[in-house]
Amino acid sequence: MELKTKVNKNERVTCGVIGVGHLGMHHARLYSELENAELVGVFDTDTLRARVIADQYGCEAFQSVAALIKKCQALSVVTPTTMHAATAIPLLESGCHLLVEKPLCTNLAEAEAMIAAAEAHHCILQVGHVEHFNPVNGYLEKHVRAPKYITADRLSPFPNRGTDVGVTLDLMIHDLGVVLQLVRSPVRSIEAIGIGVLSQTEDIANARLHFENGCVADFNTSRVSAKKERTLRIFQPGGYLSMDFMAQSGHRVWKEAGCIRQEAIPLQKTEPLKAELKSFIDCVLHAHTPKVDGYVARSALSVALEITRQIQSKGLVS
Ligand code: NAD
Repeated sequence: MELKTKVNKNERVTCGVIGVGHLGMHHARLYSELENAELVGVFDTDTLRARVIADQYGCEAFQSVAALIKKCQALSVVTPTTMHAATAIPLLESGCHLLVEKPLCTNLAEAEAMIAAAEAHHCILQVGHVEHFNPVNGYLEKHVRAPKYITADRLSPFPNRGTDVGVTLDLMIHDLGVVLQLVRSPVRSIEAIGIGVLSQTEDIANARLHFENGCVADFNTSRVSAKKERTLRIFQPGGYLSMDFMAQSGHRVWKEAGCIRQEAIPLQKTEPLKAELKSFIDCVLHAHTPKVDGYVARSALSVALEITRQIQSKGLVS
C-alpha cells in the first residue's frame, strides 16, 4: 500500500490526543516533548479532564473531534477499547494518520473495517503494542532462533479501569503480540480457562497455544494480583532466556563444558511509550509502514478473541 505523507520532512508533525485519561495523558506529554512533533490539542468527553491536560502540556482543549482533526496530521486514539473502532474509522476516512491504543478493537469485523479505512485513505494505522518497543523485545528479536517452550506471566493489582474488556484483551494481548512475532508459525490450537473475580469480564486468564512448528506457549495473566509482574521465559535448544519487561532486564542460561553458565543480559533502559510514539512520528514523516500495523495487531486480537470465547463458553464470567 502506498502511504501518503503531507508532511515536509523538515517540519514537525502536528499531533493531538483523543481520550486523555490514565494513558492518553502520557501520549500528550510525549508529543509535547518529541523533537519532530508539535502537540496541538486534546479532546476528551470529560471536558474538565481535557482542560487540565491541555493546560499541563501547553496545548488547546478542543470542543469536538471535528475541530481537532482540522488542525492535526496525526492523532492518538486512547479512548476505552470499546470506542476504538467508532472513533478511529471516521478519522481514517478524513485522512488522519492514527496511533490507536491496544487492543486494536473488540472484534474482527471492526479490525477489518479499520484496516480497510486506513488502506483506502493511505493512512498509517499503528497500534499501541508498547512491549514491541521495549528493549527486552529488541534483544529477543535478535536472539530467539528456535523457541520450543515459552512462558509469559503478566500480573497486576486490580486497576478499577479498563474492565470494559477482559484481562485477555487488556493485558495478555501484550504477550500474545510479542510471542506471535517471535515464534513466526501459525497457531494450531488454543486451550484457555479464566474467571471473573471483581469484574463482569475475566480477571484471570490462562491459555496454552500450540504452534504448527511444535512450539508451545503458556500465558498466565491476572489483574487481581497483589504484585505486578511482566516476565517471559524462552526455552530453545542449548539454553534459555529469562526476561523482565518491567525491570528491562534479563539473563541467559546455557550449558558449556558440562557446566551450567548464567549471565546477565546488558540492556539500555528506555521509555517504551516514548520509543513507540517517536516511531509513529517517523512513520508519518517518511511514509513508512509501522512496526505494529493493523495486520500485526489483528493477529494478536484474533488469538485473544478465541481465548475470550473459550473462557466465556465455560460460563465462569457473567
Ligand atoms: P481511562 O479510562 O483512564 O481513559 C480513557 C479516557 O477516554 C477518559 O478520560 C474518558 O473520559 C475518555 N473518553 C471516553 N470515551 C471517549 C470518546 N468517545 N471520545 C473521547 N474521549 C473519550 O483509560 P486508559 O487506561 O487510559 O485506557 C485507554 C486505552 O488505552 C484503552 O484502550 C487501554 O487498553 C489502553 N491502554 C494501553 C496501555 C498500554 O500498555 N499500551 C496501558 C493502559 C491503557
